[in-house]
Amino acid sequence: MNCIYHSDREATVMCNEQPLCFECAKAQNREKMIEAIIKLTLITIPIIAAMCLFFKDKINSNSFAVLELAFVVGGIPFGWMALSKLTPDIFILPLLGWIIYFIVKFFISLFIGVFILVFKMGKNIYIIVKSIKFNR
Ligand SMILES: [Zn+2]
Repeated sequence: MNCIYHSDREATVMCNEQPLCFECAKAQNREKMIEAIIKLTLITIPIIAAMCLFFKDKINSNSFAVLELAFVVGGIPFGWMALSKLTPDIFILPLLGWIIYFIVKFFISLFIGVFILVFKMGKNIYIIVKSIKFNR
């Protein structure tokens, strides 16, 4: 089988069920690695922001507790996004219903967000490590 981009080259790797030559595989691998680095950077921004916020007034506090808190708070947007995917876009509630809805959603985000955050970090670190090994 030949590379889908180079009909004159023998494919050495299957990538997403597409035969690729070594050079194309390397290029695609590099793209994936850059994407993973960008994602990982974006993921860490809320954590760093939360850490700055907590460290500011608790200079002498336990740094592990601050880190833990930063992960939980940093995870909120990820929990929120995951819940938004599950809930319908439009539904009609009275004002009080909306307030309760947002409070409940916030607390569920607080619980599940940290797990999603750690999972996403792990996934992107795994992609980066794998790409580095591949490119060596
Ligand atoms: Zn190729």
